[in-house]
Amino acid sequence: MENRKVIIIGAGIGGLSAGYWLSQRGYEVEILEALDYPGGRMATIERKGDKVDVGAQFFHSNYRHAFDLMDAVGLRRSEPIKGKVKFRFEDGAVLDFESQSLYLRGLGLANNVKLDWFVLKHIIFGHRSPMYRIVEDRPEYDNIELAELFRAPSELKLRALVSAISLASNMSEPEWMSLCHFIQLLRIDMFTKYSVLAGGTASLAEGLARKLVVRYESPVQQLVMEKSRVGGVQMKKDGSVKKAGHVIVAAAAPSVGRMLPDELKEQRDFFESVVQAPLPMPVFFLDRPVNKNVWAYFNEPTVKRTFSFAVDGSVKCPAMVPSGKGVVSSWSCYPHTLDLIDRPDDEILKKALADTELMIPGISNWVEEARVFWHKEAGMGHFPTGSYRKVLDFKEKIKDLEGVSFVSDILGGCFMEAAMVSATEAVKRVCAWGGTK
Ligand SMILES: Cc1cc2nc3c(=O)[nH]c(=O)nc-3n(C[C@H](O)[C@H](O)[C@H](O)COP(=O)(O)OP(=O)(O)OC[C@H]3O[C@@H](n4cnc5c(N)ncnc54)[C@H](O)[C@@H]3O)c2cc1C
Repeated sequence: MENRKVIIIGAGIGGLSAGYWLSQRGYEVEILEALDYPGGRMATIERKGDKVDVGAQFFHSNYRHAFDLMDAVGLRRSEPIKGKVKFRFEDGAVLDFESQSLYLRGLGLANNVKLDWFVLKHIIFGHRSPMYRIVEDRPEYDNIELAELFRAPSELKLRALVSAISLASNMSEPEWMSLCHFIQLLRIDMFTKYSVLAGGTASLAEGLARKLVVRYESPVQQLVMEKSRVGGVQMKKDGSVKKAGHVIVAAAAPSVGRMLPDELKEQRDFFESVVQAPLPMPVFFLDRPVNKNVWAYFNEPTVKRTFSFAVDGSVKCPAMVPSGKGVVSSWSCYPHTLDLIDRPDDEILKKALADTELMIPGISNWVEEARVFWHKEAGMGHFPTGSYRKVLDFKEKIKDLEGVSFVSDILGGCFMEAAMVSATEAVKRVCAWGGTK
């Protein structure tokens, strides 16, 4: 590539990591970001010195690029989350979930045996696809809905646990997840440790952004074609065109769909077909600690509620909450999130508090302040049946496109690391190099 100017659309972790690796290789990188801060879906809000993650929450121990980048920007490596995840079933039974545990108290012996058998068959002795990248098609799993698993009346608690994993890991009901995606998520959930950054997850994005040229409040309207290749971008504010040797599109799927011109209709159709909706994140700053041993609370997931689980940020990452008081975020999952779009914040807070009260009885009386943080473009992307096939077809079709690459967590099964893996692929395309150092 003769023109060494690369424009990157989006200062989320995907765009930032691609930008960092390219600038290390001597490319002239300019990142255009619609918002006035970096990080995208890695975000924190603050109140009186207490901080809370309102987007990505933690890093899994099998991430590689995330930890390399923490070192690169001089961040102290993340700390493991201590504490438990608590499930409350409809019959009053309680289950404490800890990753890497092969016997879950509260699930019952028969259901534990079934779960372990599932893990042995599909994970320990089953075919292992690479993590955080989608590289192969397994229709016998991709075409099965997770909701079809464990349907017997005796398997109710197991079904609840499976639903909770689907809600917690990918924020979707099991009807919106393929079996193949669930197996990948279960591998991550059961066999990794979770860790947090003392400055919030977004501090990694902030560290990278400081090392790069990022133009904030600079939304891109659309890609500009030059003959059959992408030659630059048109800016939303004044219609001006910025030219580049290569454009990396690193925004969430709904935004990308809007940016692609007719010449890239096939790619546009793909991004428009991704299931990904805006997400409000209600946060309750409390006047007291809740339970210092529990960082996440789940209600019986098979009884559908708008808000399915809650995270206490002060237990998840005590360093972020010097006051020591509870900071609880309430999580709504797909498709329930759709009911919240366009609803006023006070209505969302009321609903969130009512659902969270079932998980943390008494919380309604302890709220000092409540706020809603909006992921206006998109929350997590979801992987219903057939999604992996669609991603593979998309990847095949973009191979010959010139002047453009796409970076997205969607191409690797969600998560920050998937966005970074996708960024390495874009970097390879730009300079035939795939390392991180
Ligand atoms: C609530 C929540 C919890 C999560 N928890 C975890 C977790 O615990 N662990 C984990 O690994 N992952 C988690 N994730 C997923 C993780 O946040 C994402 O996978 C990752 O941050 C995606 O990064 P990205 O760079 O691909 O996209 P984004 O972070 O969405 O960044 C895209 C950027 O593009 C910008 N943009 C959009 N349109 C334009 C435009 N037209 N012009 C210019 N800029 C534009 C956006 O403003 C944004 O900054 C979570 C996600 C959510 C929503």
